[in-house]
Amino acid sequence: MPDVKKSSVRVRFAPSPTGYLHIGNVRTALFNWLFARKSEADFILRIEDTDSLRSREDYVESIVEDLSRFGLDWDEGPDVGGSSGPYRQSQRIGLYAKHLEALLKKGSAYECFCLPEELDAMRKEQAEQGKTIRYSGKCLHLSDEEKRKLRSEGRQPSYRFRVENRQVVVRDLIRGDVTFDTSTIGDFIIMKSDGWPSFHFAVAVDDGEMKITHVIRGEDHLTNTPKHIMILESLGFDPPRYAHLPMIMGQDHQPLSKRHGHVSIRDYLDEGYLPEALMNYLALLGWSSGDNQEIFSSRELIKRFELASVNKSAAVFDNKKLDWISMQHMKEIPDVKLTQMVIPYLKAEEGLCSRKHINEEMFDYLKKMINVLRPYLSKLKDINEYADIFLCQQVRLSEEAGEILRTGNAKKISEIILENLGDQAFDEKEFHSILNKVKRETGLKGKDLFMPIRAVLTGRLSGPELVEVFPLLDKNVIRKRLESALKI
Ligand code: GLU
Repeated sequence: MPDVKKSSVRVRFAPSPTGYLHIGNVRTALFNWLFARKSEADFILRIEDTDSLRSREDYVESIVEDLSRFGLDWDEGPDVGGSSGPYRQSQRIGLYAKHLEALLKKGSAYECFCLPEELDAMRKEQAEQGKTIRYSGKCLHLSDEEKRKLRSEGRQPSYRFRVENRQVVVRDLIRGDVTFDTSTIGDFIIMKSDGWPSFHFAVAVDDGEMKITHVIRGEDHLTNTPKHIMILESLGFDPPRYAHLPMIMGQDHQPLSKRHGHVSIRDYLDEGYLPEALMNYLALLGWSSGDNQEIFSSRELIKRFELASVNKSAAVFDNKKLDWISMQHMKEIPDVKLTQMVIPYLKAEEGLCSRKHINEEMFDYLKKMINVLRPYLSKLKDINEYADIFLCQQVRLSEEAGEILRTGNAKKISEIILENLGDQAFDEKEFHSILNKVKRETGLKGKDLFMPIRAVLTGRLSGPELVEVFPLLDKNVIRKRLESALKI
């Protein structure tokens, strides 16, 4: 497929398909996308599947699916093609072999016949002598005769990059210049004996071949960067500019992991977090606008995003903040649309009334319910926190509400309400008149008055305002709930 847009600025997101995309990956993808869309650069999706044992086809599919659901698009990639393809490293093996050949020819790479146990012994000895642990260069000067002999013993060589002693400067757009002394980096493997490239070699060759101008990736890759620059330079490519994004930590300041709850973006999307809210929140993990604005649409993010305003220090993932941001986005959705979005989540939840055929009347009722519950939604699934109040005969009872139901006040109040309930549909006026009657007859006010009513009618002590809940409830349902409160 021909590229519609050709830009000289090119960035890539390069996930390994060894699991579902996690929050950290998606933040990296997002920053690449924001940078690309702002600077009208090409955004490339490249699948780094050289780890043949851990890479899986279904993870490749999930990457494409989850990024799309999240709201990103790309100009070149395995699913859309492009002039720098193929976009899966497993399909580029011939290219790595060709570049290895070039490095061998100029003496920048050499064959290594060391066996894993020999390398282990080498490392152990270096550790015992307090030396830097790195490849000793044992195979660097093997003669052709020695190589022949090793081959005849059945040894298949891997290939190492020959590291020269020098300083490599990573010109990082976030961290400034970071200088590495290569004397601590031993000659490293660029091609394994089975013909698969190492991670470093594949990344460097592809960044060069795909004419990537800016590599935006996690800080955990910073120490890999001198290796990539050395390979790129050896192959005659101009290294790209780099931007290493700060790590994302959990609340305990440990790197984000399963211990902190969900880590895959798919889990968040499946729970009904809005993609625009997730995008807003992830953009704030390491970037800020400089003023106090926290709520952004994706269009605003593209306009405001600058790599130069990305922080150096680690970002902390805070679910409460995500929920708050999500609630702000939830407020903006028109009610018909929100109702349509919520319905599949309602049905999915067990124990709630499942409405197979939602007619116009039912839809209208759900719309009213959703407007009452909207302030409590940070994700669509949250609808089930309170939906039983509106959709079921009997409500789920929280422990604290159950305790209140056992008090005399709850019974007294229920009796008075039952006696005074009219037959016509509830409105705000009737609500207040009944409330006043209860007040007069019991002398109760404030919490002592409201908590029992809440407990009886909603099964909880917190949640939507009673004056909003009452008018939506069917009188018979209210009666049933009051009657069962009397029986407790
Ligand atoms: N495939 C690498 C990863 O998933 C990314 C490498 C890179 O961005 O250079 O961590």
